Amino acid sequence: MNTNPLVRGYEVVIGFETHAQLSTASKIFSGAATAFGAAPNTQACAVDLALPGTLPVLNRGAVERAIRFGLAVGATVAPVSIFARKHYFYPDLPKGYQISQYEIPVVQGGRVDFLLDGQARSVRLVRAHLEEDAGKSLHEDFHGLTGIDLNRAGTPLLEIVTEPELRSSAEAVEYAKTLHALVVWLGICDGNMQEGSFRCDANVSVRRPGAPLGTRREIKNLNSFRFLQQAIDYEVQWQIDRLEDGLAIEQATVLFDPASGQTRAMRSKEEAHDYRYFPDPDLPPLVIAPDWIARERAALPELPQAMAERLQRDDGLPAHDAAMMTQGRGFAAYYEAARDAARAAGAPPKAVANWMMGEVSKRLNAQALAIEDCPVPAATLAVLLARVHDGTISNNAARQVFDALWAGEGLEVDALIDAKGLRQMRDAGALEAIVDEVLAKNAKSVDEFRAGKDKAFNALVGQVMKATQGKANPAQAAELLRRRLSQGG
Ligand code: ADP
Ligand code: MG
Repeated sequence: MNTNPLVRGYEVVIGFETHAQLSTASKIFSGAATAFGAAPNTQACAVDLALPGTLPVLNRGAVERAIRFGLAVGATVAPVSIFARKHYFYPDLPKGYQISQYEIPVVQGGRVDFLLDGQARSVRLVRAHLEEDAGKSLHEDFHGLTGIDLNRAGTPLLEIVTEPELRSSAEAVEYAKTLHALVVWLGICDGNMQEGSFRCDANVSVRRPGAPLGTRREIKNLNSFRFLQQAIDYEVQWQIDRLEDGLAIEQATVLFDPASGQTRAMRSKEEAHDYRYFPDPDLPPLVIAPDWIARERAALPELPQAMAERLQRDDGLPAHDAAMMTQGRGFAAYYEAARDAARAAGAPPKAVANWMMGEVSKRLNAQALAIEDCPVPAATLAVLLARVHDGTISNNAARQVFDALWAGEGLEVDALIDAKGLRQMRDAGALEAIVDEVLAKNAKSVDEFRAGKDKAFNALVGQVMKATQGKANPAQAAELLRRRLSQGG
């Protein structure tokens, strides 16, 4: 991934338009359901089909979600915003126009902060506006014909537009991931990228440093973070090649083909005036009174960034750990529950974070499980970490117990420790005897250690661990060995 601000002497300029599907049960201007995956055209009502005489009625739930988003990014929520008709012809758009917001959108300004390689970055938003989605053309399974599914027509979207301030594909990906996590955290979008609930259009141009903005090409409908990065990287190289050949870039809309890894032009870009925008006479201005905004503000959850700052401050977590613990609300809730229980049992928050980033995430990812489906409850993890912290078991033994917990062998940590015989030796006298025995039997290693070979010392620790079947505390064993070796002659 490219994090270098200059590519072959050019500065990369990226602006994002993201379509987040709002998680309302019904459509933005009709009562038809929005559920994904229904049989074609079973969720398109008369309004969605644009039958004569039907009128749109705005869905309050879509507005609420737009307000919440605006508040979360520090934007202005417009007291009055306007729905407009955006005209174009396409078979999946029965009205012949899309209802969107144009000159006066509901969310104005705002900012998204994110981390790139541990460094704070931010991108300003131009706006976020409400609009309806179009239907879908189905090109498969029709023996050369195209079918139209209007189930998606009228699904509420929030289109979130950034300033052209992103400067690399790596920055673009981190922005997109942060925005995705935010809309899911807010509960306004389910974030399902395979189902198209979160789609990114990347506007890309290149220029010599200090030059005016170059001509952009817009890569449409990127629905995975990996494709997003590949598409931008390819597009940047393509544009630079062209400029280096003395050719101009023409403004265009392009598609990314994951199979070839290339972008290709779909159509030349329409200008705004081609769409013949005008205010939709069927919809009154959207008026949002201050008390509505106040209610949404009061209902807002603690935001991931504020929570991450709190975890750094109160739990002493490093910035990276705090960002990981706030990657999603479920993850954050699990962390807080485990941290509280661990604290009560005497283990530090950092141990919880380490385990969640390590053992827990590893297993969740391997099985494609969400944290909500984690088979080990937070309180149980806390007990396990407390046993490591007080020296009852080693970290290694804890992993074995965790495996057993995960596999459903029981949820009683202490019982599993005993059943597996993992309790560390606490009897210093017994351990000393074993240390002496190991020293006596491994004269060669002792000589090597005395000759300055550090590795020999590790071998001796290994022998003690072996002799105790892994039950010695490795730190204690090392300590005893050192003491004995410095005593002997
Ligand atoms: P349109 O409405 O025609 O799509 P906008 O001016 O609203 O155009 O911009 C759309 C997106 O393109 C925004 O995210 C903006 O930041 C981005 N953008 C505008 N100019 C450039 C440019 N020269 N290079 C890269 N991105 C750009
Ligand atoms: Mg646009």
